Amino acid sequence: MMGPKKEAQAALFYEFCLEDHVPADHLLRSIDRFVDLVDIREHLVPFYSQIGRPSIAPELMIRMLLVGYIMGIRSERRLCEEVHLNLAYRWFCRLDLGDAVPDHSTFSKNRHGRFRESDLFRQMFESVVARCIEEGLASGQRLAVDASLIEADNNRQNSSQIAEWTPDMTDPQTAPRAVREYLETLDDAAFGAATPVKPKFNSHSDPASQWTAARKGPAFFAYSNNYLIDTDNAIILDVEATRSVRQAELGALQTMLDRTDNRFDIQPERIIADTAYGTGPLLEWLVQQRGIAPHIPVVEKSGRTDGTFETSDFAYDDQKDIYICPARKELKQRRRAFTNPRTPQPDEHGVLRYRASKAECDACQLKSKCCPKAPQRKVTRSVHEPSRDVARKIYQTINYSISCKLRKKVEMLFAHLKRILKLDRLRLRGPCGVRDEFHLAATAQNLRKLAKLVPDQSQTA
Ligand code: SF4
Repeated sequence: MMGPKKEAQAALFYEFCLEDHVPADHLLRSIDRFVDLVDIREHLVPFYSQIGRPSIAPELMIRMLLVGYIMGIRSERRLCEEVHLNLAYRWFCRLDLGDAVPDHSTFSKNRHGRFRESDLFRQMFESVVARCIEEGLASGQRLAVDASLIEADNNRQNSSQIAEWTPDMTDPQTAPRAVREYLETLDDAAFGAATPVKPKFNSHSDPASQWTAARKGPAFFAYSNNYLIDTDNAIILDVEATRSVRQAELGALQTMLDRTDNRFDIQPERIIADTAYGTGPLLEWLVQQRGIAPHIPVVEKSGRTDGTFETSDFAYDDQKDIYICPARKELKQRRRAFTNPRTPQPDEHGVLRYRASKAECDACQLKSKCCPKAPQRKVTRSVHEPSRDVARKIYQTINYSISCKLRKKVEMLFAHLKRILKLDRLRLRGPCGVRDEFHLAATAQNLRKLAKLVPDQSQTA
């Protein structure tokens, strides 16, 4: 039998409880257990005026931002619409059915003001990391690091070659916020002072972003998102925004390791990274200063492709500070005998040079396999070679093979960030805006992990 046609009729009174309409297994319900915003009001008091019209409640702003990053809603306009329409989002934001959702323009304006000055997003990220450690999800023993390019919110058309646009052409008084932030970070090792090499193009709307072709495709403007993760459960222990240049990313690792040590008293047993991090100075810092085992491939620049002997074919004698060649001859830094012996100094790149005797090479039967085009053979040695040797020894162990698999976890986090949370292109400009976005996204990823791995006792009871 066909049912009667139903027309919607506005009732005079409704009895409706949001709590009853959010499924017990909804992601936001699981995450809500770990969102603790008790202290933020006190933290934000100095950043609000004592007079004037009341602002949007900071708790509501934070909860709405979390919904946006957790559910991959990138547009602020759409986020406001979704919170208005979606019952679960309303419940998470502590809004009742009749409560008004902030207008998207008011929401955007509030977001750029006080939260940034108060460093609230950093605090919130650290409180979630502390909760992960408390729940036993991160032991802090095996950490992995990597950086991923995130496209900046600008384009090639609004840029010019470096000679046509320099910071001193800009008036800080009238410049947009992203340009002012760029001028403030010119001496920052993560941004302006990362490298003396000038990029090919400078963006006018977001000059701190880096013009890069690192993805081997068409070049674009980008920032680097640096993650330091615990490989037990892929918890993000620290996050740092930098320019997309190698030097800035290496500096970010040192910053993040120092910060996790100070903040959470974490001294890892090993650090896992790809070849980009295998430079001599960084390995030296890890091994000698921090006592951390580097599970990192060493950057080798002395490899040969013409079939002649490689540096590894020469044995180093640390007692005599000489190399022994395959013909059992000695390669030394100095062959002349000085009356007052001089200590050899490395060059500006920290490289020492060892030379064979020309007479011995000329008479050697292996010369065609050793130095066919040079009068004698030279071998270089970095001042960081002992630390590089530590990394090379680890490279041959079974633990290193395990570390290679663990390193995939940080790559998967970046894939999740871009595909599920849709942060493949930034919405905010300037170093501060980028920092905010990365902190919120990392907080969202950690909250999702907590919700997945920590069972809800009230559901299991
Ligand atoms: S060519 Fe010179 S450095 Fe090379 S194996 Fe012969 S003696 Fe040694």
